[in-house]
Amino acid sequence: MTIFVHNFIDDMTDIRTGNGYDVHALAEGLPLHLGGVEIESPVGCIAHSDGDVAIHALCDAILGALALGDIGKHFPDSSEEFKGIDSKILLRRTTEMVSGLGYRIGNADITIALQRPKLAPYIATMRETLARTMGIPTDRVSVKATTTEHLGFVGRSEGCEAYASVLVLSVSH
Ligand code: MG
Repeated sequence: MTIFVHNFIDDMTDIRTGNGYDVHALAEGLPLHLGGVEIESPVGCIAHSDGDVAIHALCDAILGALALGDIGKHFPDSSEEFKGIDSKILLRRTTEMVSGLGYRIGNADITIALQRPKLAPYIATMRETLARTMGIPTDRVSVKATTTEHLGFVGRSEGCEAYASVLVLSVSH
């Protein structure tokens, strides 16, 4: 019975899903980086890296799909190497882990929750930037933005959060 189950799984297309979540506190006068793009904003994320919650959630989703742990395990915020780092570098390295294991990213869907400023003018550039960084077509990358209708820490502009879902596929399929 064990042998049968093992063969059955081998014959299936290896499709993995992953989800990720991140949050950072906001403060006046700091730069705001989201989806690999600098946003014109009176507030920015307090972080060890550039504080890009969208990329951090995306990296966690990708790592999750392959059960590789989380972003803090691979890029610890206690390390000087990652102080102020452009999160696109973390996404690039995460993508390289995926290809190194014989997989590719099928698509990604990200939701960013931020009360202000409005992100609509930046969505297209975020999608292009993330797609280029992951080496996949732009039509496989979705970025959505929402406020929380002034509710909770996001609504009070105390923080910014992001959720990401991805599909990761074995390269042979
Ligand atoms: Mg983070």
